[in-house]
Parts: sequence; C-alpha cells; structure tokens
Amino acid sequence: MRIGCPREIKNREYRVGLTPESAKELVANGHDVWIESGAGEGIGAYDAQYSDAGAKVIDDVEKLFAECEMIVKVKEPQAGEIAMLREGQILYTYLHLAPDPEQTAGLVASGCTAIAYETVTGHRGGLPLLTPMSQVAGRMSIQAGATALEKAHGGRGVLLGGVPGVMPGKVVIIGGGVVGFNAAQMAAGLGADTIIMDLDPVVLEKVGTHFEARASTRFASRANVEEAVCEADLVVGAVLVPGAAAPKLVSRDMLKCMKPGAVLVDVAIDQGGCFETSRPTTHDDPTYVIDDIVHYCVANMPGAVSRTSTYALNNVTLPHALRIANLGWKEAMRRDPHLAQGLNVHAGRVTYPAVATELGYDE
Ligand code: NAD
Repeated sequence: MRIGCPREIKNREYRVGLTPESAKELVANGHDVWIESGAGEGIGAYDAQYSDAGAKVIDDVEKLFAECEMIVKVKEPQAGEIAMLREGQILYTYLHLAPDPEQTAGLVASGCTAIAYETVTGHRGGLPLLTPMSQVAGRMSIQAGATALEKAHGGRGVLLGGVPGVMPGKVVIIGGGVVGFNAAQMAAGLGADTIIMDLDPVVLEKVGTHFEARASTRFASRANVEEAVCEADLVVGAVLVPGAAAPKLVSRDMLKCMKPGAVLVDVAIDQGGCFETSRPTTHDDPTYVIDDIVHYCVANMPGAVSRTSTYALNNVTLPHALRIANLGWKEAMRRDPHLAQGLNVHAGRVTYPAVATELGYDE
C-alpha cells in the first residue's frame, strides 16, 4: 500500500503522523511511504532521516493526497485537506467528529474511509489511542503547576519538593485515572505531599496500592474536596465522566479559602473544565489569575512536548496502521473488533453510531 503523511497544518500543531522509525517499519513490510517535506521538523525529524528510513520525501502535498491509498495524520483534517480526500482513500487520525458537524459533512461528501484514533477500543478496555496523550498531560500538569507556583509567574513561591528543613508543597489531584495517576507519579517523585482523590473505590485501591506511603488517597466527597483544596498549593483537575461535560468540583466561592498564589491546573478543560472559574488558555498565554489563584487551563497540553507526544502516539497507532496496510482495512477490522470501533465514516455514511445520532445522520 502507498501511505502518505502530510505536514500538520492546524495552528501550532507540531506533531507528525509518522516518525522516521514508523516509516521504516512500514517500508520493511513492503509498503511505500510518502512524507511531505518538512513534516517532521516540529519533532526534530528532518527529511534526510525519512529518506534514510526508505520513505520518499515529496514537496507536492496535492500529489501526496491524490496518489496515496492511506493518509496518516495527527489532527483532524482541515478544510483544504478535506477537499483533497477522495472515495476509497483511508484517513487514519484523530477526528473528534461529534462536536464538529462541518468536518463530518466534509468527510461524508469526500467518500473516504475515516478511522478515528479516539474511538478505537482496547483488548483490556479503555481507549488505548487516547491514553498516551493523557499520560503526557498528567505528567505535564505537575511541571506546569510547579512553574506557575514560582513567584515570578504569579504563584506563592513554593518549591514542590521542599528542601531539607523546609516542608514540601501540597498537591491535590482530583481524579485518579490516567491523567491523575501520571500526575501523582510526578508529584510523588518530586517529594511533594501528594493526595489523590476519586469517587471510584477500585481506582482508590489501585492508586493506594501502587503509591503506598508516597501518596495518600481520599474519597472525593464534596466536603473532602473542599478541605483538601483549601490546604493545597497545587490542585490538578483530572476527572472524566465519559460522554458528559466535566463536573464543577471547585466553585468560585472555594477560591476564597485557598492560599493566595496557589495554583489550579485544569487538565479536564477539554471537557469544559472541573473548576467553575476555568476557561481555555493557550501555550502562548497559559495562565490567568482570579481571586489571587493562578489558573492554568491549556486544552492541548501534549502539543507543547511534540516530540515525546509523537513518539508516544506512534507507539499505539503504528501496530494498527501496519495491520490496515498489510491486510486492507476491511480484513484488519474483521479480525480485530477493537479496530473496527475506529471506523467513523465510510463511503458517504457516518458509521459510528454515537456520531450519527449526535449529528442527525441516523434519520
Ligand atoms: P480517566 O477516565 O482515565 O480518569 C478519570 C477519573 O475521574 C476516573 O478515575 C473517575 O473515577 C474520576 N472521576 C469522575 N468524576 C469524578 C468526581 N466527581 N470526583 C473525583 N473523581 C472523579 O480519564 P483521563 O484519561 O485521566 O482524562 C481526564 C481528563 O483529562 C479528560 O477530560 C481528558 O479529556 C482530559 N485530557 C486533557 C488533556 C489536555 O491537554 N488538557 C490531555 C489529555 C486528556
């Protein structure tokens, strides 16, 4: 199969669909890989590395779209890219169609076969093609929070790990799933006084068993959350209620009991945020202050660490890409019902039921 990987054109997207190593793997399996010149620059992977891997570097993105049977990307296709997709062509990337009627209509009109990373399920449950981005965001949340806690950034001037003779900072992580677990690893690793809160007893047990004395767990009742937040230097919002907006767990009123200069990092901002005072921010201007509390609410945290994020993403997307290329998408999906969950649009139809219902394609 001929597989094409264009340069990402969404504003400030530095990741790339295929690393040189992934290109090499596809080539070793007998496939042709075409990469748009400069596509890997945002992760420090240059054209020569792709050529060395056996890929063909091409300047003409229209030719790439016209002649490749499968397009591998990171972000949803932009209008100019949708216009180049065609019937029978496979698009393999993040799509997030439910809130995006315009993109959905474009994909339907193109006749392409669109496979969305975010709806592929895993043999052990969960959404394995989303997990690495939650791992990245969880780990970054402590790094971002630690920076925001510095005096020059508006914070209260606390070093999370403390120093000998001075107490460490207090970190409260609300939600002990993938983001929360990874945040806790970083916070506890720094030596911060770390509490992980969740409503699910199974999650609390898993986290408690893993961290033992390095972090404590607490049931996320309203009263417990309020008490913990008021004592915290850094609060990380890491909750998810699948298919729903994030519940607001910290009200504006609660900011009054917090220490001036404390920091709120709302990782759940992509689901509306779990603090009442959260609003989406960007990497260019990541924080703002309300009632003396610093807020960090960047909606695409993994974009800042494009190299790590791209490699983490390729680790989970490449095995499916290989099966699709080796077997064809139909046979690959027949053999793997989890991959079949990724099919969102095919030949002018929305095939993913939740998207079809949400956008009225099932009538
Ligand atoms: P997850 O499903 O692995 O974990 C969510 C956890 O929240 C679960 O353990 C659940 O029990 C818990 N929870 C739900 N309601 C709760 C409540 N009221 N109080 C306490 N805990 C509660 O999800 P995840 O992968 O960790 O993702 C968390 C959020 O981070 C999601 O909204 C996800 O979209 C977001 N995210 C954001 C970025 C970013 O760049 N900002 C990147 C990746 C993920």
